[in-house]
Amino acid sequence: MELKNMNVSDRKAMLLQALENDEFYLLYQPKLQLRTGKVIGAEALLRWEHPVIGTISPLDFIPFAEETGLIRPIGEWVLRSACKQNKMWQEMGLEPLTMAVNLSASQLFQGDIAEKVENILKEMELAPEYLELEITESMTMDVEFVLPMLRKLKQIGVSISLDDFGTGYSSLYHLKEFPIDTIKIDRSFVRNCTIDAKDATIVKTIIAMAHQLKLEVIAEGVESKDHLIFLQQNLCDEGQGYLFSKPVSATGFAENMRAFEQIFLSEGLSEESSR
Ligand code: C2E
Ligand code: MG
Ligand code: MG
Ligand code: MG
Repeated sequence: MELKNMNVSDRKAMLLQALENDEFYLLYQPKLQLRTGKVIGAEALLRWEHPVIGTISPLDFIPFAEETGLIRPIGEWVLRSACKQNKMWQEMGLEPLTMAVNLSASQLFQGDIAEKVENILKEMELAPEYLELEITESMTMDVEFVLPMLRKLKQIGVSISLDDFGTGYSSLYHLKEFPIDTIKIDRSFVRNCTIDAKDATIVKTIIAMAHQLKLEVIAEGVESKDHLIFLQQNLCDEGQGYLFSKPVSATGFAENMRAFEQIFLSEGLSEESSR
């Protein structure tokens, strides 16, 4: 049984059932400040645990959620759950984090996304500065529609990051015109940045450009110590990847949150340890 071999109405029924039966859950991956190893944020990543098929990757079901229109309720569930979790961490006494949530194209195009986000923040009593929305370049193509939408979101006080940067279209135009706070360097450039001169140049150039534009920059797919050292040397602000942690449960996240700073210190990776 595979989603892609089913017809649209069966897929829709399955996704609806998943919502009703609580088959979705979130995992969280830490975002670290690369100077110190301090965890400053989390990205919420959606998972679907189907009783028969098992775990289904978002890459395999988000397109069908879009196709069937169910991305709206699913996306809202993600936003609400991620904000709720962030609030719970704050109430547990964890240092406040920014929670990043991936938006899909049709969520942005639904027109009332800003109102939705505002309502969820109110409902969860979460300050807007603790929510970040990740969008991709391909979603920003329809400038006349998307630009006012992003401005409305910014007015609420949430931040916006441009995910998978470098893999979409006309990225430089978007950097200039869109109210973006952070660039996420796509994993495909980070992967070989220590062994391929072209990737190295691309990563360095994105970091330098981000800083000159007064944007933050984060690298995704940080998998090795070599990656980390390269990114630190080139003054990348933040990093996210398997070197630090895979996406984990909320409990696992909270338990490990403070460990990275110690590891950075003891392994001489922290700015502090070089003093
Ligand atoms: P993304 O937003 O670019 O998320 C990063 C993906 O890279 C995640 O895959 C994460 O598990 C993976 N990753 C993180 N660090 C590493 C690493 O060091 N090496 C490698 N090889 N991979 C790493 P995941 O969780 O399978 O999600 C895939 C994509 O699905 C996401 O890419 C995002 O576009 C989409 N997605 C996930 N959750 C949601 C959601 O709630 N809503 C929407 N609309 N899309 C989502
Ligand atoms: Mg993302
Ligand atoms: Mg990404
Ligand atoms: Mg990606």
